[in-house]
Amino acid sequence: MTEAAIGGGEMSQVDSFVGRRVLVTGAASGIGLAIAKHFSLQGSTVVISDVDAGGLEELSKVIGPCEIVVANLAERGQVARLAKEAGHVDILVNNAGLQHVSRLEDFPEERLDTLLAVMLVAPFLLAKACLPAMYQQQWGRIVNIASVHGLVASANKGAYVAAKHGLVGLTKVIALEAAAKCNDVTAHAICPSYVRTSLVEDQIEDQSLVTGLPKDQVISGTLLAQNAVKLLIEPDDVASAVAWVCGTKAWSMTGSALTMDAGWLAH
Ligand code: NAD
Repeated sequence: MTEAAIGGGEMSQVDSFVGRRVLVTGAASGIGLAIAKHFSLQGSTVVISDVDAGGLEELSKVIGPCEIVVANLAERGQVARLAKEAGHVDILVNNAGLQHVSRLEDFPEERLDTLLAVMLVAPFLLAKACLPAMYQQQWGRIVNIASVHGLVASANKGAYVAAKHGLVGLTKVIALEAAAKCNDVTAHAICPSYVRTSLVEDQIEDQSLVTGLPKDQVISGTLLAQNAVKLLIEPDDVASAVAWVCGTKAWSMTGSALTMDAGWLAH
């Protein structure tokens, strides 16, 4: 893209993702599912990937043209196969993730390995595979779904916090390397606070049972204690932010960690 085309004072145009090929990992559920649906509605061809084959099958029935790649991103060989089967990708969304809550001294090492593999190593390898074609066509977007825990820590989430901080750092490196190659290949880390997905709903249910508190009090008093706004974020809110940073008007935004933290870090 030329400097004039990028900075030119033309009126905003509506972004079109028609014809774009988008790879979304962890697409069978929650945030990834919302992102896949969002891009599909905008006319993209979506490559949906997850370890959960049944979830992908269900999703494929309700969205437009899509391709399914079942892959366990904890295993490098399967990451490589996903990259190969996905082929040319215009937009890569590294979203797959999982949590394990434990004090460091009790943290099972195999869980540490899995969390780092899925949420840090796989995004690295997928970006590595996708970038050359993006450079060649002089356009591309890499969006890493990090977390507010990519910017701040909570106790008992050592592997998750380490992986997400690493993912924010990786995003900055991709942004710098891409900018040196061309003007319109960008990288972003999206950093939400708690989002209403099955993962979080289960935590609310468990805490409610353990403490005897009603669910709304668990949400505002415990889960969202750090949030200024005591509301859960919706998966579709995150999908909208992802779509925005993938738009043409977001070319100047790269290497940033976009907080959707309901004011957590404003304290
Ligand atoms: P979710 O559990 O609903 O979805 C995660 C998806 O990742 C699932 O479909 C799961 O099958 C998939 N996945 C897990 N391990 C995998 C593996 N080894 N290989 C391939 N796929 C695998 O959770 P979510 O809340 O939608 O989380 C999506 C992303 O958003 C994660 O990276 C998470 O860390 C991040 N995030 C979530 C929240 C939140 O509050 N829910 C907040 C900030 C960031």
